[in-house]
Amino acid sequence: MQSLKINAPAKINLYLEIIGDREDGFHELAMVMQSIALADEMEMVLSGNEAINVQCDRADVPNDKTNLAYRAAALMAHKFPQQYGKYGGVEIAIRKHIPVAAGLAGGSTDAAAVLVGIDLLWELGLTQSEIAEIGAELGSDIPFCIAGGTAIATGRGEKLSPLLGLDNIYIVLGKHQSQAVSTAWAYKTYRTVYGESYIRDRNSLAARAAAVHSGEMVKAILHRDVKEIASKLYNDLEKVVLPEYAAVVELKAAFAKAGAIGTIMSGSGPSVFAICESPQHAQLVKQQVRSQIPDPDLELFVTQMVSHGIQVVNN
Ligand code: ATP
Repeated sequence: MQSLKINAPAKINLYLEIIGDREDGFHELAMVMQSIALADEMEMVLSGNEAINVQCDRADVPNDKTNLAYRAAALMAHKFPQQYGKYGGVEIAIRKHIPVAAGLAGGSTDAAAVLVGIDLLWELGLTQSEIAEIGAELGSDIPFCIAGGTAIATGRGEKLSPLLGLDNIYIVLGKHQSQAVSTAWAYKTYRTVYGESYIRDRNSLAARAAAVHSGEMVKAILHRDVKEIASKLYNDLEKVVLPEYAAVVELKAAFAKAGAIGTIMSGSGPSVFAICESPQHAQLVKQQVRSQIPDPDLELFVTQMVSHGIQVVNN
């Protein structure tokens, strides 16, 4: 096998609760993550020499060693020097469809695709959990991006408990192209403002993380109750992002006014998604938000929840 085409879906957070600090400097989280159909298209080809190269079609995404896709390939070369020597490096082309720095795990899913792709190109035969373990070294969202679907994510987001996957639920996603939120900034600001109230005791932390399993969002998902899911959307990071980003507040209000059944910021933002009743309803909500906010800087997508993560589309 010389080349691969891979579909790398974005994620949204249906639920994001910050429950405390960790010794490694990250936060203890309790989240429900969901894959969506909006995806980057990746192509990976064995380079025939030692080179690892990344080419992305967007100017605001680096093509150098800082690209998460490059870092994923370099990590695999480091972990599997024999296979790297035998098969050589990879050329990675990314056709970006996922908005950048938007709280949609765009970089993480590209990295997840590279880990899966290299496993195949180098005939490593790794299990999904082995790939996820490698991914967790690079970024907390990468394990989820590999498996995708619907999952509870705890720890720093890398500990996954898959739920029966949701699909065919339509959403409209909005993001101002000129706006970006640094994930590190959002969490740091949250710690500064709310750190005093964090749970410190280990047992209480574990109990709080476990509580998400029996929480209302998970119940709504298990019952496939879209209205209930839409009414239980929650994101702690809104508390620090909304006061700084008036456009996010305006976008949420526009979705609500347009008749979406629920709306919330995804991850650290600034993207906002709105749950709709049907594909037709989603198109209507999109049109109404567009007429409320005619600014061409605002990108709007109609997409849907999907029950898969990284997919090899052909080889
Ligand atoms: P998360 O939801 O995981 O916090 P995000 O969606 O907010 O991530 P990304 O789109 O992953 O953010 O981009 C964050 C930063 O990473 C950007 O500044 C971008 O330049 C850089 N980056 C590196 N590699 C990639 C990549 N393959 N795709 C997108 N951004 C990348």
